[in-house]
Amino acid sequence: MTRQQEIRFVAESALGKLAKWLRILGFDTIYEPEFSDRSFRDPGRIRLTRTLKTYRQLGGKSIIFITSDHYPEQIKQVIRELGITLQDVKPFSRCIRCNDPIHRVDKKSLPGKVPDYIWETHDTFLTCRRCHRIYWPGSHIAHSNQRIKQLFDD
Ligand SMILES: [Zn+2]
Repeated sequence: MTRQQEIRFVAESALGKLAKWLRILGFDTIYEPEFSDRSFRDPGRIRLTRTLKTYRQLGGKSIIFITSDHYPEQIKQVIRELGITLQDVKPFSRCIRCNDPIHRVDKKSLPGKVPDYIWETHDTFLTCRRCHRIYWPGSHIAHSNQRIKQLFDD
């Protein structure tokens, strides 16, 4: 098991953009509107909170109190506190909508399902088996590899 698979998160509702970004980086991240009481208490997940009261109640165990209002800073804080490196991340491996891993799909099955110019100019397509959204390099929001690298530069 790689480090990347071990680190899992549960994010509170104020941290939607951070949650989305953690999924872009490949981390299993559930986000408040979706999580059940059970996943909330899952000790295997690191809780991300903006609520000082919650942080104090849990005594700092498996919880990170996010200090910034701005998501790029929030991501950097998580990376810093957990010592995550570029080698730990697996960008674009997870559906940003469902959090499920996405899988390679045969291009031949896709005409009509993606815009023609995308089909003609790309060879790699992935799909989420839960929501059936189709991904290709460049389809993720804020997708540039350059931007991901910048998160680890400081
Ligand atoms: Zn999905």
